[in-house]
Amino acid sequence: MIQSKSATANGEIVDAISSFLASPPAGTPAEVIAAFDAFGSKQHLPPKLFLETVEQAPVAISVTDTAAIILYVNSAFEQLTGYTREEVVGQNESVLSSRSTPITVYQDLWEAIKRQQVWRGTLINLKKDGEGYLAELVVSPVLDGQGKIAYFLAMHRDITELHQLERRLSFQKSLTEAALDAAPMVVAMITAERKVLLDNHAYKALLGDFRGAEPSELFLNALQQQIGFDLMSVCQAGEGFTNIEVRLDPPGSASPRWFSCSGVRVVEQDEAAQSYFRQPEQTRCCLLLIANEVTSSRRRVNDARLNMLRTSMAEQQMVQTMREAISAAIFKLQEPLNIIRAALAMPGIGSDQHGLRQALQHTLQSSDKAMDSLHAALPSPTAEQISIVNINEILHEVVRLSTEKLLASGLVLDWRPAAVLPPMNGRVNALRGLFKYLIDNAIQAVNQSRKDYREIRLQTRQENRDLVIEVMDNGPGIPGAIRLKVFEPFFCGWTRAGAHAGMGLTLAQEVALGHDGSVEIDADFCGGCCVLVRLPVNGTGGGGGYESG
Ligand code: FAD
Repeated sequence: MIQSKSATANGEIVDAISSFLASPPAGTPAEVIAAFDAFGSKQHLPPKLFLETVEQAPVAISVTDTAAIILYVNSAFEQLTGYTREEVVGQNESVLSSRSTPITVYQDLWEAIKRQQVWRGTLINLKKDGEGYLAELVVSPVLDGQGKIAYFLAMHRDITELHQLERRLSFQKSLTEAALDAAPMVVAMITAERKVLLDNHAYKALLGDFRGAEPSELFLNALQQQIGFDLMSVCQAGEGFTNIEVRLDPPGSASPRWFSCSGVRVVEQDEAAQSYFRQPEQTRCCLLLIANEVTSSRRRVNDARLNMLRTSMAEQQMVQTMREAISAAIFKLQEPLNIIRAALAMPGIGSDQHGLRQALQHTLQSSDKAMDSLHAALPSPTAEQISIVNINEILHEVVRLSTEKLLASGLVLDWRPAAVLPPMNGRVNALRGLFKYLIDNAIQAVNQSRKDYREIRLQTRQENRDLVIEVMDNGPGIPGAIRLKVFEPFFCGWTRAGAHAGMGLTLAQEVALGHDGSVEIDADFCGGCCVLVRLPVNGTGGGGGYESG
């Protein structure tokens, strides 16, 4: 089968190939080694059998002298190049050159093999019919008994298709990436272990807006709070979801942002060799998260809502002021009336000859009537339904409602919401009222302090199953002696009471208690006042039957 010029040449080729195979260089195609292994010991194969093996190896093999003059080619070489061995034996390997491989590549090849090193690389070759192909080539020097280079052994295969596939893949990848980056929505591919495999420009922009907080975490947490979404189980077998609206609160004074989220389960292409025979059901999956920002439309709706809210809160405020004024009048009248009642009960007054007793009784009767009229005039509180509320959202609304006051006072508002807060059951109006009292108090406190730098800080966070809201101001603070007294009805500690009847903190506490929560003044806070509101996520939302008025 071998068409070598002579038996000597045949022997030389066997020697060349034997010494090459005695220690095949790293990178020798596995198919070649396997073919020889099938015949047993590589070193002791009979020459004929040995040549047959090389001859039938599925990779193009050629043996050259030290000047790259071809001495032998195998059958795969003939099939790949289209040249018969008679046509190439005696010619330089450059017969395959397309003249389009850069000269530096050849220089690199020759430098390596002359240093007795194996060279691996890619050349652009031409077949006999002129068709170009990409040759992945391994050239290995074969040494004689004196350690000098005697031959070169080359193995090459056509990787044109592979290269085309790679190029196509890389083009598809850049196309996908370009399309993803151009898309206005946030896109991220997330593994079951919450690792982001792929993202786009919109995702990266969000990373900046949220000061480095990983957006995937923000979305996953928000979805978990909102729909009980569990990434691991969705990746294992679950179904995706569509159009779930989530709210994310950026740090600082930036406005909240809303995203309509959809998630699709995608099979992860595991490239590891160990995964080659894995069944589809054993394959891992990822979540493709697509989040479309709907902040502007949501803001328009919210603005309209806020206007309605402003009107209804003004009405509520009026009713509340009236309630406070009447309650204060009842409270204040009660004291002299109690004195009159006590006086009438005294024995001396019973024998009164000058009509004092009569006058007191008359006063008492008309006062009681006045009290009845005052009680009747008290506006009745409105019962409010429990609903699912988001504390960040309520606080943000209250801040927006107080914008004018804040601006007029030249105050800096530091808004530090938890990026994601779980929703809770509560009475929206009552809670809104609670925070309005606290923020109004903070504004009044800072205004009284007359400091150059005036600041209010609003902070929300989750502590176990409680939502904690801190309203801090750098005003004069509340002295320890009256820290509890400020919650008493009609207690007013302001230097200028103005319209305050001293019911704000009483009502705030009532609302918090109605939600199984609490309001307290942080005793450790220095440099102003810090009011801590604690509301349980799973509170009954008004076990005491609180009614907002
Ligand atoms: P050349 O002048 O032959 O070579 C270009 C540069 O290579 C020179 O400037 C010089 O730097 C270096 N060079 C060439 N010959 C030598 C030498 N004898 N000693 C030191 N440096 C030298 N080429 C292919 O295009 N396709 C192949 O499939 C291919 N297979 C090869 C297999 C083997 C075993 C060997 C040893 C070489 C192979 N070559 C192959 C390289 C080939 O021999 C030529 O060097 C190459 O094709 C460039 O030929 P050229 O006539 O354009 O320029």
